[in-house]
Amino acid sequence: MEDIVPPSGPMQGTKICVIGAGFVGIVTAAGFARFGHQVVCVDKDQKRLSLLRSGRLPFFEQDLENLVKNGVSSGRLVFESDPAKGVEGKKAVFLTVGTPSSNGGRADLSALHEIISVLSKNMKAGQILVIKSTVPVGTANTIKKFFSQNGNRVDIDVINNPEFLREGGAVHDFFNPHRIVIGGSSQVAIEEISRIYKMGMAKTVPVFTTNNETAEMIKYASNVFLAVKVGFINELARLCDSVGINVLEVARVIGADPRIGKEFLNPGPGWGGSCLPKDLQEFIGLADSLGVSLFIPKAVSQANLYQFEHVFSKVKNLVGDLKGTKIGVLGLTFKANTSDLRESPAMPILMKLLETGAEITAYDPAADSIVDSLLSGVVRVDDPYKTAEDADCILILTEWADFQLLDWGRIRDHMKNKNIVDARNILAPELLKRYGFNYDSVGQN
Ligand code: NAD
Repeated sequence: MEDIVPPSGPMQGTKICVIGAGFVGIVTAAGFARFGHQVVCVDKDQKRLSLLRSGRLPFFEQDLENLVKNGVSSGRLVFESDPAKGVEGKKAVFLTVGTPSSNGGRADLSALHEIISVLSKNMKAGQILVIKSTVPVGTANTIKKFFSQNGNRVDIDVINNPEFLREGGAVHDFFNPHRIVIGGSSQVAIEEISRIYKMGMAKTVPVFTTNNETAEMIKYASNVFLAVKVGFINELARLCDSVGINVLEVARVIGADPRIGKEFLNPGPGWGGSCLPKDLQEFIGLADSLGVSLFIPKAVSQANLYQFEHVFSKVKNLVGDLKGTKIGVLGLTFKANTSDLRESPAMPILMKLLETGAEITAYDPAADSIVDSLLSGVVRVDDPYKTAEDADCILILTEWADFQLLDWGRIRDHMKNKNIVDARNILAPELLKRYGFNYDSVGQN
């Protein structure tokens, strides 16, 4: 990536603070710096900040390290631990702290409340607070009220600007979004935030402006709909397996109808990740709290748990009694091109295999090292071929492209029994069968 000279003339860069140096925060901060804005990114994790200052990342995300290096070396991206310093003199403050599920399933807003309490003492009238974190409907208005009654007691403009990036393709998505949503009640603030994006975004990117609640709902509605779509294709795959139809052919043709669309019609081991599961639970919780009967989200959540079981059954069907057997696992992250393990389908599936007494050897090219504490009992190896040694079955759980390039003859020769469950449908069934494998996938039989 070559450096971009900040534009001069009428479009001047804006002074921005991004709070939270996680997946969304780093991409946003480095992306805005690349547009030519002056960005301070704040996090309370000192270790994370030291890494970032040296241009390194606390996790793997394609193309992001270069973007951060570029921002740091241009002087337009700096990292800071003190939020008071971070927000000082900034026009817009973007919040990207985590909003995970609480025990009851609703969004846990403790990180958001903690930082809001600090910011209420440090932000001044005229500054704009932008909520990029995914927050329950009504949060922006609660925050606006909090600011007017606490700290500096300022009447602050609060904007919702939900994030739609996909991990594994986050940098691409930042520069090529399908849409930008800016929700708020102040036209001046909406235009200011819109200007920050327009400084670096193609003119063709649609910008939707709404009120705060609508923007908050748009984010949840998007993720719930995606979960429904994947849930549907996974169920269709189970049906296709039973009647001997290839689900991929069905998906290709139904997806050609623009009312359906071809994206998110890839059957697999179930959906996971840091967003879909928790956002679905918050959506269900909101409806329940209002006494609104919603059937689809609950069914989709249940169907996803069933899908994990279904993949486990596929291994069992090929191997038989699993006690004492060796299962080689390829892929642990919830999707390819990320190190993120949050709510990865690999977790429940491997837990179930361990419970039945199977021995697991796993390889993932990027999984965060936290995996060792999450999956004690799983032997991790640094070479995919080692998962095949004496194995009774290979189970593919993440769609890393590298797995397609493996020498399957070599893998076969190391295995005790030639079984493969390709839970991502990334291999060519006929090729694997020619190698002599008992090959199973999701909906291709
Ligand atoms: P994350 O957990 O990766 O990052 C959150 C960061 O905030 C951490 O680095 C944490 O140290 C920091 N933080 C927490 N409290 C802080 C405080 N008081 N002061 C400073 N820093 C603080 O989270 P994420 O995956 O980037 O997600 C952030 C938000 O964006 C969530 O609401 C999520 O739902 C939403 N979102 C995430 C994605 C995604 O793909 N990860 C996509 C769209 C939307």
